[in-house]
Amino acid sequence: MSPARPDGARSKAAPTKAATARPKAAAAKAAPKRAAPAKRRRTKPSPEVVARRWATQLERKRPGLVQFVLDRLAETSGRPVWQPRLDPTSELILTILTANSADVNAEVAFGALRDRYPSAPRSEGASLEPRYFPGWGGVGLPELPPPDWPAVESAPIPELTDVIRPGGLANQKAPRIQAALAAVRAGGDGYSLEFLRGKPPLEARDWLAAIPGIGKKTASVVLLFSFGTPLMPVDRHVHRVSSRIGLIPPDADADQAHDYFLAMLRPEQMYEAHVSLISHGRRTCHAQRPDCEHCPVAMRCRYFKRDAQ
Ligand code: SF4
Repeated sequence: MSPARPDGARSKAAPTKAATARPKAAAAKAAPKRAAPAKRRRTKPSPEVVARRWATQLERKRPGLVQFVLDRLAETSGRPVWQPRLDPTSELILTILTANSADVNAEVAFGALRDRYPSAPRSEGASLEPRYFPGWGGVGLPELPPPDWPAVESAPIPELTDVIRPGGLANQKAPRIQAALAAVRAGGDGYSLEFLRGKPPLEARDWLAAIPGIGKKTASVVLLFSFGTPLMPVDRHVHRVSSRIGLIPPDADADQAHDYFLAMLRPEQMYEAHVSLISHGRRTCHAQRPDCEHCPVAMRCRYFKRDAQ
């Protein structure tokens, strides 16, 4: 009880600690809990964004590197100009045959497919002279009609395996070839891939890459060589050379390298870059003991000189 004041009025006593604490606690209990601010989750940038950042950085830190490499390689080996080589379905099957095999063996296997399953009788004066493809590791193929695809697709697997045996890994490749032909046929245009001509590059690449056993590289090869679609196939040579020079990050795998090149190159540079880098890898920048002494891009190669610009 508050002490009585001389004037008879009750004095207002200072509220005790307990008295003040209680309403506060009650208020706190009654008040709706304020949600803790949501933690901002860092979303991982897409591979395309990562590749664009790399391309921007590369141009800032090592300006003109891409053009330098293309120009120097063109000085020594000529500037490759796109020209069609095979029909797209032949290109697809030939590329499947090259997987983990030398090009020279793949072309023997492709020739065997043409011989065993001819789509047309061979005309009398048909030239059997091989036509060389720029960047290709074999001797080339004669310009002959493609194999009879329905016959290839329906051939018994042991028979088809035997036919393509010279290409290597025939047990894996025979079913892969038939699956690819089935997917092409299901595309609705017979065994033709012409419907991919003129499609946006990535859409066309995704269509092909959705076929089991077909990756970005094979899809890009088919589209670049058949239609001139601006895509950059990255095989082991392109990957090794570009990684050594420092065109792509040292830890980028071949699959990621596709994104880096798409971000780095102008569409009209892609065919040239693919053919020039693959040829350079075959002739000079070997996997074992690269011939840096005679390399036209050595002064800007990070493998040759660690701090090369
Ligand atoms: S300098 Fe050597 S490692 Fe570099 S691209 Fe040339 S051959 Fe390859």
